[in-house]
Amino acid sequence: MPKKRMEFKAIIPEITMSIRNQKKIVLLFALWLTLLPIMAQKGYQAKLPDIKEKAYYTLEDFNRVDKFDVHIHINTVQPYFIHQAIKDRFFFLDIVDDRPFGVPMDEQQAFAKFHLTNFPNQMNFATTFKVSNWNQKDWVATTIAHLKKSFAQGAIAVKIWKNIGMDLRSENGDFVMVDHPRIDSLLTFLSDNDIPLLGHNGEPRDCWLPLEEMTFNQGYYGAHPEYHMYLHPEYPSYEDQINARDNMLKKHPNLNFMGAHLGSLEWSLEELAKRLDAYPKMRVDITRMPNLKLHTFNDRQKTREFFITYQDRLIYGTDTAINPMDKPAELKDRIHQKWLDEWAFLVTDRPLELKGYGQLKGLKLPREVIDKIYFENASRFLVFTKKE
Ligand SMILES: [Zn+2]
Repeated sequence: MPKKRMEFKAIIPEITMSIRNQKKIVLLFALWLTLLPIMAQKGYQAKLPDIKEKAYYTLEDFNRVDKFDVHIHINTVQPYFIHQAIKDRFFFLDIVDDRPFGVPMDEQQAFAKFHLTNFPNQMNFATTFKVSNWNQKDWVATTIAHLKKSFAQGAIAVKIWKNIGMDLRSENGDFVMVDHPRIDSLLTFLSDNDIPLLGHNGEPRDCWLPLEEMTFNQGYYGAHPEYHMYLHPEYPSYEDQINARDNMLKKHPNLNFMGAHLGSLEWSLEELAKRLDAYPKMRVDITRMPNLKLHTFNDRQKTREFFITYQDRLIYGTDTAINPMDKPAELKDRIHQKWLDEWAFLVTDRPLELKGYGQLKGLKLPREVIDKIYFENASRFLVFTKKE
């Protein structure tokens, strides 16, 4: 109690200060306020070394580096995801798909256009095309006209989806694969105009294996036997999917191509390396992160060498879907945590847990490799330069 009275007394002389003294104090305070940001900035610069001179980034550098997520699906007008992207210095590609479930293709594209208008610096979008009119004679012309319209609306890339190869059938009932001559006409158009193509062709190899031999997808295929190809031998095989995609790339060597989900070769770095060697214009996104962690768990050095060898061909992405039912705070927290965890895995050698397997050490890739995977490769593939 007495202490409080003392403080009270100490304030009294200030209250009774002359007007002249008060002015002096105000002036000094104003000067201090002006100098404060300059002093703070100097201190900040002195404390942190130039980021471009570092051999490795740290976990804390997450907020100091521009990054790009090449695989995002926005299914809502809500902008919360984009707010978090800005906060975490993430630019991104929003991808429109021709899916038989969820938000229809045209609506996805309307959301993409809407967000692009509001956030032109933060994002780009990839359009797609429908195949419900596949058996019409003018499919190629109609599709190219649709794509041109989408480019005029701001799309900078095209997505080709797994429905080709796993669902679409021709007039005679055969499955249409991605190396079909009718698709060639479309790809020639893209290739001639240097328009990037994103290909989600086939599925993870697990899809064709019995449940007990799967690596990560027992839960999903156990719950969806209709999509579990092991149970449907009348459908094209895993090898059929990969061969058709390879054949498509063989026929279009100048096509600017990115295979989604490690080009559906997530289970084998050797098999993926073979394709990257054979098709110089092929890149892959690294959205199958559990597989990459498993490769690291099995052989960290080999996985690290793979990343370094193919540092120009790997593009960071998460395959995050943003849906209208998402709660803003939860969504922002979820994506921030995922981005940060994967940064820690690729940038640092911190220990982390791979569910069902055990502990592994992060890859701690050199800064130049991180810069490429997290930004430069996406900007080169999508043929854009950063807007200021
Ligand atoms: Zn996706």
